[in-house]
Amino acid sequence: MINNQDEARRCLLCKKPFCSLKGCPVRTSVPECMALYREGRLDEAGKILFDNNPLSAVTSQVCDWKQFCFGHCVLNVKGEPIHWYSVEQEVSERYLFQYKLERDSTDKPWNDGMSLQAGDASSPHGLSVGSVCGKRVAIVGAGPAGIAAAVWLYRSGADIDLYDANPRMGGVLRYGIPAFRLDKKFVDIYEKILDVPGIRFFGGKALGKDILLNDLRRDYDAVLIAAGAEKPALLRIPGEDKPGVVEALHYLKDPGSYALKGKRVIVIGGGNVAMDACRTAVRSGAETWVYYRKTFENMPANPMEVEEAKADGVRFRVFQAPIEVGDGYVIFRDCRNETDPETGKLVTKILDGTDHEVPCDVLMPAISEKPDFGILSGVLWQPNVWGWPVTDESGRMGFQDDSPTNVWVAGDFTLGPKTVVEAVGSARAAVDGILSFLK
Ligand SMILES: Cc1cc2nc3c(=O)[nH]c(=O)nc-3n(C[C@H](O)[C@H](O)[C@H](O)COP(=O)(O)OP(=O)(O)OC[C@H]3O[C@@H](n4cnc5c(N)ncnc54)[C@H](O)[C@@H]3O)c2cc1C
Repeated sequence: MINNQDEARRCLLCKKPFCSLKGCPVRTSVPECMALYREGRLDEAGKILFDNNPLSAVTSQVCDWKQFCFGHCVLNVKGEPIHWYSVEQEVSERYLFQYKLERDSTDKPWNDGMSLQAGDASSPHGLSVGSVCGKRVAIVGAGPAGIAAAVWLYRSGADIDLYDANPRMGGVLRYGIPAFRLDKKFVDIYEKILDVPGIRFFGGKALGKDILLNDLRRDYDAVLIAAGAEKPALLRIPGEDKPGVVEALHYLKDPGSYALKGKRVIVIGGGNVAMDACRTAVRSGAETWVYYRKTFENMPANPMEVEEAKADGVRFRVFQAPIEVGDGYVIFRDCRNETDPETGKLVTKILDGTDHEVPCDVLMPAISEKPDFGILSGVLWQPNVWGWPVTDESGRMGFQDDSPTNVWVAGDFTLGPKTVVEAVGSARAAVDGILSFLK
């Protein structure tokens, strides 16, 4: 059990905090907040955290902190890193549930605790401050990136129309991460916070279908697209279109609508989506396996989640590649990791002559996701060599005809499938760009 008081006392309050500077995509001010926590000034610490990252109550729970703050704490050399995320969770939750979204006055910095001088053009985090009253911004996608952007832009004076293909806000936080990992009260609260005059939410409105980018460009001063990465990658094997194949992303959207009790479920993949899908399936009474073509060390999932999945009763088979889906079974082929003699790189080889049939009622591919750039139809956006939109550092899109663009992209839609904290970080860059443009 982590004692937050002890953690705050143990923190060295480093002048050059690696946990923040190197370990945190949004550079959370750990020493400053730790110092306030020690003095019992929790509201001040909460304000700094929220102003910097409106999703801090979420990221402190779902971040892979071993990769971020915790993993970069200098006390790792002694094997005693600080559990900052736990302190952050306490402070952020307390602040979030009493937060009221209001406009900032033009001469008031966003982040009082950060010694910003009135009139400065930007905050220490690079965010512009000052009013853009009367300007209208359309945000497409009400996931973490869209929510963070709505908070910051509203505070700067802009009126926001927030569109989402789903009926409710939250993106992956609501329709992906299961409730046993993230209590939905941490998602519902944003619907309350953003329910203010000046912000309108249009649920069930999909860009590319119900609304078109060209219309948004015309009707709003700026447009931010934060539509996530929701297009699952295909296995590209025979039988993939059979009814027993359910994309893990689709399953996680509404697990209750699948009757899996007693069924043999095989999840394909080794990432976070695979872990959430198998842990959800096993909880619903399915006999659940994860089949992965490499080995445990190669899994992109947080190792802690893999261990938790095992503890939940999920069984794992590594070095297995699916070859064909049949009725009630899947054919797998064994694999092996080998070092390529020419490049020196580790490659996974699928071994001929090792086919074997595995009984399976439901196959859930969870191998990767990417953004659906089809939603940008009608606009001659500029693709890079990989077919992704060309943007500047703030995420402002380029158009092929060089016409001035008032469109930004943020979150997984531009980063690919990443993390909540990185989505918030890219939203911050986009908001910075939009505010400079609007002013
Ligand atoms: C199952 C799962 C588990 C994960 N676990 C973690 C974790 O533990 N920790 C972590 O940090 N990250 C995790 N991630 C990644 C993290 O959730 C994402 O990086 C983050 O949600 C990205 O935020 P976003 O706002 O860019 O996109 P999203 O959260 O995907 O939100 C995009 C929003 O855009 C909407 N949208 C899509 N297309 C359209 C359209 N055409 N028109 C209008 N709206 C549209 C969607 O409905 C959605 O609400 C996980 C991802 C998944 C899928």
